[in-house]
Amino acid sequence: MKCPEVREELPAYVRGEQPTLAVRRHLSTCEGCREESARYESLAGALGSLQSMTVEPPSGLKHALVAIPSNQGRLGAVRTHVTRHRRRYVGGAAVAVAGTAGALLLRRRLVAA
Ligand SMILES: [Zn+2]
Repeated sequence: MKCPEVREELPAYVRGEQPTLAVRRHLSTCEGCREESARYESLAGALGSLQSMTVEPPSGLKHALVAIPSNQGRLGAVRTHVTRHRRRYVGGAAVAVAGTAGALLLRRRLVAA
């Protein structure tokens, strides 16, 4: 088996599938593919921890959404509310954006590798 064939299979092994004998043999002799495999494993671990990360919504968000009067246009009411409580929402949005940026960075590294 050649390196490109082995590397194509690597993501499946990180997800828990058993490598074939040919792949195991190749990995035992090819340092480059072993390193690639280790990179996949560390990325999978990092992405797994991102998936389980939760972000608390700004306090009062649920109450505020429920309290929006139905006779007012919902979008307009949300805009008014967000304008009034801008600082809290910007804080919450910054946390969400930071998480997304981290995921994109990892993804880019995965593609570039
Ligand atoms: Zn190789």
